[in-house]
Amino acid sequence: MNRRVYMDHTATTPLDPRVLEAMQPYFSEKFGNASSVHQYGQEAKAALELSRDRIAAFIHAKPAEIFFTTGGTESDNFAIKGAALAARAKGRKHIITNRSEHHAVLETCEYLEEIGYAVSYLPVDEYGMVDPDAVRRAVTPGTCLVSIMHANNEVGTINPIEEIAGIAHEHGILFHTDTVQTVGKIPVDVGAMGIDLLGISGHKIYGPKGIGAIYIKKGVEIEKFMHGGGQERGRRAGTENVPLAVGLGKTIELREMEMAEESIRLQTLKERLRRGIEERLEGHIFNGHLTHSLSHILNVSFNRSKIDIDGDVLLLSMDLNGVAVTSGSACTSGSMDPSHVLLAMGRDERTAKATLRFSMGKMNTEEDVEYVLDVLEDVVTKIGKPTSRNHNS
Ligand code: PLP
Repeated sequence: MNRRVYMDHTATTPLDPRVLEAMQPYFSEKFGNASSVHQYGQEAKAALELSRDRIAAFIHAKPAEIFFTTGGTESDNFAIKGAALAARAKGRKHIITNRSEHHAVLETCEYLEEIGYAVSYLPVDEYGMVDPDAVRRAVTPGTCLVSIMHANNEVGTINPIEEIAGIAHEHGILFHTDTVQTVGKIPVDVGAMGIDLLGISGHKIYGPKGIGAIYIKKGVEIEKFMHGGGQERGRRAGTENVPLAVGLGKTIELREMEMAEESIRLQTLKERLRRGIEERLEGHIFNGHLTHSLSHILNVSFNRSKIDIDGDVLLLSMDLNGVAVTSGSACTSGSMDPSHVLLAMGRDERTAKATLRFSMGKMNTEEDVEYVLDVLEDVVTKIGKPTSRNHNS
């Protein structure tokens, strides 16, 4: 192995050293509790509020609409359970979501089904996109929430959020979107997009792990998530993690400055990788939308009817050659199940398993892409067996 290449930025990103530097004083001398009235507390509170202001401005919200959480999973849970529980009193107990959501959304919905809610899991098309008309058709008088992710974490497809939010609002239904993979990568404007609830995660955008935020539009009725103290204006109890919140604010500040340029650079790398795979390998299928897609995710499967590849061996062989990628969402890796997203898009199990998701980031270079292509070609040539159908054709 002569090189190490990390192309799993959708699972997590390295911490930006500038973020670490901004956080450091709040782990040591500036250790106050943001709820304390003395100067130590006020110093912490000021840092917390500055961070809140930055996050709010970035998504065109008001600071009072931003609440710190521990990350994407908590924000999704908070939004969905909170909205569902608040709607109970009105007898509205139906939620619309889709089959390609992250498990943080799917399992929250499954839990709500267990306690008496009904959930419609809409299909996605072959690109992993939700059809707004399907949302319209699924609406019932009891629907309290539509939850459709902004962009998919496995294939990168971006959903038509504005249109879906518009349909929800026509029927007086709240609209939640999981923006864990988009805030900090592409522009998100809660007003223009019609978003009532969204979640952010620090570690996906070069910030620290264990910190995130939820946007709750002013006036939206949602039950509190944690019971206890009056932190976060009574909506999310628990002493705020000031150093990490400072880190989230700093990373958002940096993303604001660097996001647009970075996105163009990553798009170029993605194209280079895509072209390289096309030129050098056979039997592949790219997963995800060609144009409505995040610029840093390239997801490729090897089609079982053309080439037979063991997905586990593929992933392991890439790793042995220093290339860190995944076959599905990081949260399910470790389990050998094929990706639920690819199955929802119509891939068969074996093809879905023989998949690699490359997600690029700041550190990746053209040389990395060339190295990855060399490794991939080598690995596929060694472990891939042309299937008889392909052989005969
Ligand atoms: N939602 C999406 C789309 C994700 O990709 C992830 C993480 O992979 C999450 C939610 C969970 O975020 P966190 O790791 O911050 O809990």
